[in-house]
Amino acid sequence: MNTLLLKDTPADTAQAGAIIRDGGLVALPTETVYGLGANALNAEAVARIFAVKGRPADNPLIVHIAHVKDITPAIAKMDHRAHQLADAFWPGPLTLVLPRGDALPDITTAGLDSVGVRMPAHPAALAVIRAAGVPVAAPSANRSGTPSPTSAQHCIEDLWGRVDAILDGGDCAVGIESTVLSLLDAQPVVLRPGAVTAEAIRWVLGSPVSISPGVLAPVSGEAQTVSPGVKYRHYAPGVPLTLVRGDREAFAHYVNSLPAGSGALVFEGETEDLSVPALTYGRCDDPESQAERLFDALRRLDSLGVSRVYARAPQSEGLGLGIYNRLLRAASFEVIDLAKNQGGGPDRPDRCG
Ligand code: AMP
Ligand code: MG
Repeated sequence: MNTLLLKDTPADTAQAGAIIRDGGLVALPTETVYGLGANALNAEAVARIFAVKGRPADNPLIVHIAHVKDITPAIAKMDHRAHQLADAFWPGPLTLVLPRGDALPDITTAGLDSVGVRMPAHPAALAVIRAAGVPVAAPSANRSGTPSPTSAQHCIEDLWGRVDAILDGGDCAVGIESTVLSLLDAQPVVLRPGAVTAEAIRWVLGSPVSISPGVLAPVSGEAQTVSPGVKYRHYAPGVPLTLVRGDREAFAHYVNSLPAGSGALVFEGETEDLSVPALTYGRCDDPESQAERLFDALRRLDSLGVSRVYARAPQSEGLGLGIYNRLLRAASFEVIDLAKNQGGGPDRPDRCG
């Protein structure tokens, strides 16, 4: 099919909104990653999202709104906690899982009784949703299993000729997907970590928040049903990846003694330590820069021409937990812990410098 390339202008965001309202698919920028948007109330349009992405039918979509008052058709009710969190973090990178509304077709929520809803912060996304006049279902605008897109170029690589339009709104400021927080039970649960941290949520609610076991380990059975996304291969680069926990020196020593055909993914300024081909993802002591660069780096690992890449693990607190979670999945949970082997301080094995 013919794909339109749209810009972040009033005329083009209006056109993108009209395409979505009429049942089409538009890849659009948000502050987290690019989303593939369709009318969340239109089962046929949503079915096309699943087909184009090759997304398993039991992985629910996040529904995007431009005003809190527009949440009504998507959800059944918003409790006090949901209002507090929406006030504090919307528009922004926090998805709230709430009881679903009757207006949503089953396909949007993958048949669940709940739905993830968020108000994105990118002005172009808000303009498109307003112009569409409907809630917009939008998973990441990539082919299922590949790293999420953080630029219009990434969307073009994955979706050109498969969607009605791609709207270029520049590079995504955050770079990893939203925090997903379930409010279905008495205690809120982080199902996927992102830029809105569990600490920040705890602070706003003034009560405990738990982290789903699926954030740091493979899960099966009941835990998969709670957060269906966790059971699928995610963010897989074209070349196999191993995550390595260890400081700069230990990492370089380890990687430089590997057989030929190995490559590395490290922080800026660290490639000079290495005798293997390497790419970088942000600065060691700056998780914002790591989140922003991560998916683009994962997409370019093939260019190293190696048969396995060893990635230096980020610190896993705050936003770092979201980055660590994406890298763990990209590495299919294959982790080497140098700090453990070398007795180098279990609390900060991945320290900078
Ligand atoms: P993506 O749109 O590609 O960022 O993926 C959306 C993620 O949100 C998936 O991993 C889902 O597991 C999660 N999600 C969406 N809706 C729900 C829901 N109702 N319950 C639990 N998780 C959800
Ligand atoms: Mg995705």
